[in-house]
Amino acid sequence: MIKIRAHHFLCMQGFQGYGYNDEFVKHMGEIVKYIKENSNDSIKIVNYCDEVCSMCKNNTNGICEKSSSVDFMDKKVLLKLRLTNNQQIIIKDVFKLVGEKIKSFEDAYEICGNCSWSEKCLWICKLK
Ligand code: SF4
Ligand code: SF4
Repeated sequence: MIKIRAHHFLCMQGFQGYGYNDEFVKHMGEIVKYIKENSNDSIKIVNYCDEVCSMCKNNTNGICEKSSSVDFMDKKVLLKLRLTNNQQIIIKDVFKLVGEKIKSFEDAYEICGNCSWSEKCLWICKLK
């Protein structure tokens, strides 16, 4: 079962081929493809470096160098979706929840307002 940090539920929907480097982009593309093709599978929500982080240059020995901002985003997402860390959930259910619980740009900005990718992120741009 793949492990995913909560704010990455949003990032996966916003992915348009941008990322920290070629390795990260290739891996993220594979994850997004997997998620789409296996939407009836379960994922586990985690509050540490996950599958997306595994190819990220900011991941140093399993610790995210941006942990203060990504921890904040994870907590905000979990609060809005009423989910908890270590919970297992069906992939299509979690994306449905995101659509139901985070609908406005204000909600999205509250979570992602400080993200350096926000101008290139399809998920937040769609809510503008
Ligand atoms: S704005 Fe940033 S944190 Fe928010 S969904 Fe997009 S890439 Fe992820
Ligand atoms: S910045 Fe941090 S949370 Fe985001 S993918 Fe990289 S290691 Fe993971």
